[in-house]
Amino acid sequence: HRAAPPGHDGAARLTVLAGPTAVGKGTIVAELRRRHPGLFVSVSATTRSPRCGEIDGTHYHFISDEEFDALVDDEQMLEWATVHGCHRYGTPRRPVIQRLEAGAPALLEIDLAGARQVRAAMPDARLVFIAPPSWEELVSRLVGRGTEGQREQERRLATARVEMEAAGEFDHTVINDSVARATDEIESLMGLRG
Ligand code: 5GP
Repeated sequence: HRAAPPGHDGAARLTVLAGPTAVGKGTIVAELRRRHPGLFVSVSATTRSPRCGEIDGTHYHFISDEEFDALVDDEQMLEWATVHGCHRYGTPRRPVIQRLEAGAPALLEIDLAGARQVRAAMPDARLVFIAPPSWEELVSRLVGRGTEGQREQERRLATARVEMEAAGEFDHTVINDSVARATDEIESLMGLRG
């Protein structure tokens, strides 16, 4: 087994997790962080307001529309998208590039439109689609977490139906049937298992 050149098949690659709403991407990322405290996970910038308990600079960089425009104009976003029809979210480019150049892995958790932009900008990126065990399971998770009102739930489910079709564009699909098992699989893909 030949050693991979940095930035190619080795661990020092960009991994992108995407998938439909409420599939459990955030929980998987939290579990990866717990297992690998030094793992770099990009902190996105967003124009939405913080939810209760969210910390600026930790969960997101909460910025104004004007600040977001300035970052986009300045080409400081690796990718960005308007998600669920209202707020903008984007990945600040520099921290990700610095991390990869230092030979370390980097992880993004972004929406599908963002994943497609990363694919175009960085063909070496490893794209991982997180899928629910079934459509019924996805619906019950979204309704069960209760963070969105009924209209927002309906909107997100309509988006999710379309997004489920996109799995084929990804390098890997990981079914989130159990957080521990799905996390094991992503660790293996990222070369993080010892
Ligand atoms: P939430 O508002 O629930 O925190 O996130 C909503 C959606 O925004 C999620 O599907 C998440 O994947 C996506 N998202 C978060 N950060 C980014 C980002 O930097 N870029 C893109 N394209 N999507 C993001």
